[in-house]
Amino acid sequence: MSISRTVAGQLERASWIRRMFEIGIQLRRERGAGRVFDFTLGNPDVEPPEAVLAALRRVASESRPRSHGYMPNAGFPEVRETLARRLAARTGLPFTAAHILMSNGAAGALNAVLKSILDPGDEVIVLNPYFPEYRFYIENHGGQAVPVETGADFQPDIEAISRAFTPRTRAVLLNSPNNPTGAIYSAATLQALDAFIQEPVLAISDEPYRSIVFDGLAVPETTRLIRRSVIAWSWSKAMAIAGERIGYLAISPRLAEAEALANACTFTTRILGFINAPAIWQWVVAEAPDATVPIAEYQAKRDLLCAALARMGYPLTPPQGSYYVFPRTPIPDDVAFIGMLQEEGILAVPGTGFGRPGYMRLSLTIPRGQLERSLPGFERARRKALAQAQSPAFQ
Ligand code: PLP
Repeated sequence: MSISRTVAGQLERASWIRRMFEIGIQLRRERGAGRVFDFTLGNPDVEPPEAVLAALRRVASESRPRSHGYMPNAGFPEVRETLARRLAARTGLPFTAAHILMSNGAAGALNAVLKSILDPGDEVIVLNPYFPEYRFYIENHGGQAVPVETGADFQPDIEAISRAFTPRTRAVLLNSPNNPTGAIYSAATLQALDAFIQEPVLAISDEPYRSIVFDGLAVPETTRLIRRSVIAWSWSKAMAIAGERIGYLAISPRLAEAEALANACTFTTRILGFINAPAIWQWVVAEAPDATVPIAEYQAKRDLLCAALARMGYPLTPPQGSYYVFPRTPIPDDVAFIGMLQEEGILAVPGTGFGRPGYMRLSLTIPRGQLERSLPGFERARRKALAQAQSPAFQ
């Protein structure tokens, strides 16, 4: 067998997403695609904004000189300058091109920074429930994920985080708006975290959902509130271009070692094999950096789904942003309940996949008509689960 024990073990742990994918194929075959309601994907269901498509056509037709070759590993300097100016205006901090490293999505940015800061056995605090890929990104570079449970409404529990620090802690990985919970971390929470994040620890703020927020809320500026912070950003969700792999790592100018970290990340981007972020897409995002898919449709789907599930008796905290709703399952065994939803043609990811059994993640990227048609299935599955739990065979 040529697969390493490490990857074989990781594949086994990663199997939820794979399993759901395979079950989806099987269910579509059995029931017909129109009778399967897929709430598992985090893939945008809309086309990119017209401003982005227009910029793409313009950049392609201009055929800028030296647009297709290697470039400085951190990305085109003009693009980084444009983005640094925007970040400076947004945060009030003196960002320059030197603080921006163009990346292969947020995932590329996270891997570049983790590779730069971790030695084998170093620890990264992650807030439970969390995006399952974090554990693998951390392990890619010899690190160890240290999950810490979140508190009420999935907000970071500062006390619990402070207790999780050890001499091996190198980073606290934050994700707001959050996948899977939709929570936005408050400014007060980030400020409280700042007190604990002392050299050599970094706050790594993974923010691919920053522009997917509801009710006119704003996401607090991490680099303003936490001195030792970096941001992993991507346009995957904002522009519905997840397949194009374009984002950046922004290093806070307030970080004493900003220059050394930028140099290290430029190097790790190269040796991880990314080399640089996709060239054409660097130009495109610099032309329309703020273009965002319409949020109103996601908000309308959130309102519809949350109200319907709450009426049925599913306990939930409505998400403040991101693509996801994370209700409790009617019975503690989320995996068993996901099986009952499948009998109704509904595909959802069990909370177990995110480190939080007893919950399930539902993605708002499902088309609205499908969402509406799925609702009676949620009702039936809940009744069935509760009836089974109360039957004598279960006592
Ligand atoms: N971080 C979180 C929380 C995500 O949900 C995702 C993708 O779904 C990523 C990072 C990866 O984003 P990207 O496609 O920009 O690399």
